[in-house]
Amino acid sequence: MSAISIRGPYSGGRNQRTLIIIGASALIVATIIVTVSVLVTRSDSNVELTLEEKVHQILEDSPVIDGHNDLPWNIRRLAYNDLRRVNFSEDLTQNAIWGKDDSTHTDIPRLRKGHVGAQFWVAYTSCTSQFKDSVEQTLEQIDVIKRLVDKYPEDLQFATSADDIENAIANKKIASLVAVEGGHSMQFSFGILRNLYAMGARYMTLTHSCNTPWADASPVDAKNPILLPESDGLSEYGLRIVKEMNRLGMMVDLSHVSQRTMEKALNHSVAPVIFSHSSARAICDHHRNVPDSVLEQVRKTNSLVMVNFYNGFIRCDGQRANISDVVEHIEHIRGVTGPDHIGIGGDFDGVDSVPEGLEDVSKYPDLIKALLETGNWTDEDLKKLSGQNLIRVFRAVEEVRDSLKGQEPEQDAIKAEELEKYKVNLTCITAKFERLQPQQLLKTRREAPAELQLREL
Ligand SMILES: [Zn+2]
Repeated sequence: MSAISIRGPYSGGRNQRTLIIIGASALIVATIIVTVSVLVTRSDSNVELTLEEKVHQILEDSPVIDGHNDLPWNIRRLAYNDLRRVNFSEDLTQNAIWGKDDSTHTDIPRLRKGHVGAQFWVAYTSCTSQFKDSVEQTLEQIDVIKRLVDKYPEDLQFATSADDIENAIANKKIASLVAVEGGHSMQFSFGILRNLYAMGARYMTLTHSCNTPWADASPVDAKNPILLPESDGLSEYGLRIVKEMNRLGMMVDLSHVSQRTMEKALNHSVAPVIFSHSSARAICDHHRNVPDSVLEQVRKTNSLVMVNFYNGFIRCDGQRANISDVVEHIEHIRGVTGPDHIGIGGDFDGVDSVPEGLEDVSKYPDLIKALLETGNWTDEDLKKLSGQNLIRVFRAVEEVRDSLKGQEPEQDAIKAEELEKYKVNLTCITAKFERLQPQQLLKTRREAPAELQLREL
């Protein structure tokens, strides 16, 4: 309807109508002028910003929340968990030990340069410790994370919630969270799982490179599998572990698990899940990456994939990767999931080969710059990628936890039959077997393949 056709009992004579029309038109024109001028001013101010300034602005508003950093493992490996042996306030590229090691990428000055606002520090222990001292080692790694945070209070702030992350960022600190990598860290005990949560662990990766008695790991999907599926992804007991994690408010991390495990966990979890450090299988066909069909499930469940930078997951052809290769993974995942389900989980300090241009934790701004340069990203979507998506998913997990208040904790022990498949060292964990009919457990299976004795990313 045009303004000229306005008629009604309240409209006066022709002159009055004309005045109203002129007034309304003037108002519309003025509004358009003001709107356009505001837009022009904004766009002018954007034009005036250099790309670096724009990156800075984006990361000031939404600092990087990285899903996976193995610095605690390096503290164990290179300093025997003795924090007096290394000063993280220094540039460790100049350190005689750390500077020469290909798997070290982190110190506080570089975290600051990288605009890191929150980091999940990983309490990792290798698969060789499964059924042995995995729980003890995990506790030691959580302890060293806490001592690290305590030692650098000017820069690090312990965090266990989405609110804590925002509070630390507001205080200009790096929110420091505990993550547990590998279900062998809880063995098969709900009691241990709950204690890990009580100590601050806010996600647990269901497996590392080895199957647990209740979940299958990604090597079962390898082209020449060195591991066979044993739990159809997740056993009944594994499903109950996911349920208990939902009740606790501990994020379920599906990096490292088999595709079947991913699918079952995504179907079963009532809270969104994360992949703390995985990239796109469609771009690099490695079993550690996420297939498109699973990315669809990620979108439907409000979940999150945090992209891993490890060279071997970014490029499958053996070539050195660069930032553009990482951009390709990020854009592929966004193409399937949309902009709300992608984040960053660099895997720094857990890998010995990273792309050119992403050599350490100071380089995140260069990745944001490369994404800006594509012209395919709005500032808002880059802020989601850098950290806001993780905050949203974390909050959703906390809301599920709150909604499940009053639900009974899981209490049953794993069934003896589920352990029969494994060569369990009875002398290490006798107390558990006394209540699980130990005579049944003596029927053991093949040894774990030697390849799995190695630390595998
Ligand atoms: Zn890993």
